Amino acid sequence: MSDLTALSLAAARDGLRAKRFSALELNEASITAVAAAKPLNCFITETPDHARRAARVADERLGRGEARPLEGIPLGIKDLYCTLGVQTTAASRILQGFEPPYESTVSANLWRDGATMLGKLNLDEFAMGSSNETSFFGPVVSPWRRREGDELSEAAIVPGGSSGGSAAAVAARLCFGATATDTGGSIRQPAAFTGTVGIKPTYGRCSRWGIVAFASSLDQAGPIARDVRDCAILLRSMAGHDPKDTTSVDLPVPDYEAAVGASMKGRVIGIPSEYRMDGMSAEVEALWERGIAWMRDAGADIREISLPHTRYALAAYYIVAPAEASSNLARYDGVRYGLRVPARDVVDMYEETRAAGFGREVRRRIMVGTYVLSAGYYDAYYVRAQKIRTLIKRDFENAFAAGVDAILTPATPTAAFAAGEKGSGDPIEMYLNDVFTVTVNMAGLPGIAVPAGVSANGLPLGLQLIGRAFDEATLFTAAAAIEAAAPKVELPARWW
Ligand code: GLN
Repeated sequence: MSDLTALSLAAARDGLRAKRFSALELNEASITAVAAAKPLNCFITETPDHARRAARVADERLGRGEARPLEGIPLGIKDLYCTLGVQTTAASRILQGFEPPYESTVSANLWRDGATMLGKLNLDEFAMGSSNETSFFGPVVSPWRRREGDELSEAAIVPGGSSGGSAAAVAARLCFGATATDTGGSIRQPAAFTGTVGIKPTYGRCSRWGIVAFASSLDQAGPIARDVRDCAILLRSMAGHDPKDTTSVDLPVPDYEAAVGASMKGRVIGIPSEYRMDGMSAEVEALWERGIAWMRDAGADIREISLPHTRYALAAYYIVAPAEASSNLARYDGVRYGLRVPARDVVDMYEETRAAGFGREVRRRIMVGTYVLSAGYYDAYYVRAQKIRTLIKRDFENAFAAGVDAILTPATPTAAFAAGEKGSGDPIEMYLNDVFTVTVNMAGLPGIAVPAGVSANGLPLGLQLIGRAFDEATLFTAAAAIEAAAPKVELPARWW
């Protein structure tokens, strides 16, 4: 039998239904691929027995012709999603050994639709980072390498972050799709760095219940997959109203797969002039120009637009996100979950547990967050950042009110960098990676990253499309048009 792991999710689904292979065979192929990919460090916990058990059930249902939408499809779950009785760490020492007594709504939705779980995927600690180098369980290595002949062709490349394990596992064909989360870019940036497709849905589209909170007003769940269709299939299963999350929205979930391949004729694509900024590499700028041409060739009307408050977005995000994080992370006190460092009294126990349990970047965010929320600084920083947030939101509303259907931008200012290359001296160097993605979270809008080309040194580059609230369908249509027009970004051959 040919290599089953090379199939797309849609092809695997169709192959299962046509009985060309069984769910157990498909899952065994993925389990073998996961076991052989230790050098990439994509998984914190592997759960092959879970996958086998679910695959047997899937084969029975397939045999009876009762296939559910994701029957027998092996997936990876970002280790920020609580999974019943399976260790969930948020890639932090403080949660090591924590086995949740419940399942997150989004992962439960996937199991309801027949998917199987290969394991829990590595990430930046508490989803804070852009390179997956802050995990307590070690960095994730991208399956991508620079082109042969490049002087750094052997260097480990980062997969992006925080959903680096999700993106790398999909790009390495270890799973057919993965869950991820996006607070400031953590789905779209790793997707762009690994030649995969990732969508951050509208805030409220997927339930946040049972997902470890980072910044609750920005966090959203979404999928990373090998192509636009696979991403659409996964989002349909993940999304939906959940009474357990009061910010989840009670709207019908469309058949996103039907939006893939629809016509772009007459749709208006906005190009924001403010995204032409310092730090963007020349090849990313050229890629953006090609993207505009592909949209025009597909029948879209191109319109220059202005999002004037873009330049303040990154600064405001790095106030709002740490503020919410400092509050959310107050619950890790050594009493209820994970690590406890015994000490003389309870205050010392809190301090020692938190000092030992949190890594550098998480401690930095807690300190920034508590500072901007403290008396005397609250108005100067936090309130101002919230005002900027409103202005950013209004910029987008104005563009959409003027008839724009989606906005096209680069996903990242550059291609992926090498491990250790950024942020070790100055954390702001790392934060600058998020310049094109954070605005979308601040406004609560949907955004998708789609592969569109390859850099001079052989690494993938992605474009981003931003849509109206709850109009993910248009993003799937536009991203599919780019996917069809762009030269195919072939996933890297196995070297690990
Ligand atoms: N890189 C951004 C940060 O570190 C975004 C992370 C995310 O979306 N979870 O905050």
